[in-house]
Amino acid sequence: MAIQKTLTKKTVTNKTTVAKSAKQLIKKGSNSVAVKRASVSKGDAGTPLSVVIRRRIEAQKARFHANDNISAFIEPGELEGLVDEVAEKMQAVLESLVIDTQSDHNTKNTSKRVAKMFVKEVFNGRYIEQPTLTKFPNVSRLNELMIIGPITVRSACSHHLCPIMGRIWIGVLPSKESALIGLSKYSRLTEWVMCRPQIQEEAVVELADMLEKKIKPIGVAIVMDADHFCMQWRGVKDRDSKMVNSVMRGAFLKDSNLRREFLSLLEKR
Ligand SMILES: [Zn+2]
Repeated sequence: MAIQKTLTKKTVTNKTTVAKSAKQLIKKGSNSVAVKRASVSKGDAGTPLSVVIRRRIEAQKARFHANDNISAFIEPGELEGLVDEVAEKMQAVLESLVIDTQSDHNTKNTSKRVAKMFVKEVFNGRYIEQPTLTKFPNVSRLNELMIIGPITVRSACSHHLCPIMGRIWIGVLPSKESALIGLSKYSRLTEWVMCRPQIQEEAVVELADMLEKKIKPIGVAIVMDADHFCMQWRGVKDRDSKMVNSVMRGAFLKDSNLRREFLSLLEKR
């Protein structure tokens, strides 16, 4: 159903030509109603939108793990269709949990709310493009240690989809030739990487890779300190368990004094 709705919305410009279903749309052929998307062929009528997107990804042999960004394979307007599809399946989950969503006013629209929350909010970093990072040249030829943070981290574990709430500090040692990015961009980039189901160890590595690529510094260091709700809400139910991990690259790896300076500055905060 969800795909049919999106298809109709996307491909029909003239209201009078609206067909009753996507199947009918396709049957009419290309001369009456244009099916613009090459990927939506005859066989795709009634195919869930997630499958259509998945086929595009597979055609490019790209990866689509929980912490991958797949925005390149999503066309404008399709996120709404994905929300509809997830809502439909979330409703089935609620039903399997034997929750009476008909008479329980609290759960009546839960499926739609959860679908929207996943696609448009907490896992948004999978579906939207990387924020634009305006780079500017290092005019004052700074090569002193910069520390950015704490940046608030809101993520979820890939294993249980339980929240991960924490903080991140980023240390950058720019070279005189480095391209710098505005301070707020570190937060934007962090949010983009974290708004996906993640594993803390992989998330910090991904962020470090991105910063190295963008800034080309002499060194990058990241420390992340987070509460994992899959340890607190479920499992061992240990309220105080935290996870701290770090990535050190370039100068931070080679120079123990620099590493010490970075870590000691964090302790003071
Ligand atoms: Zn977990």
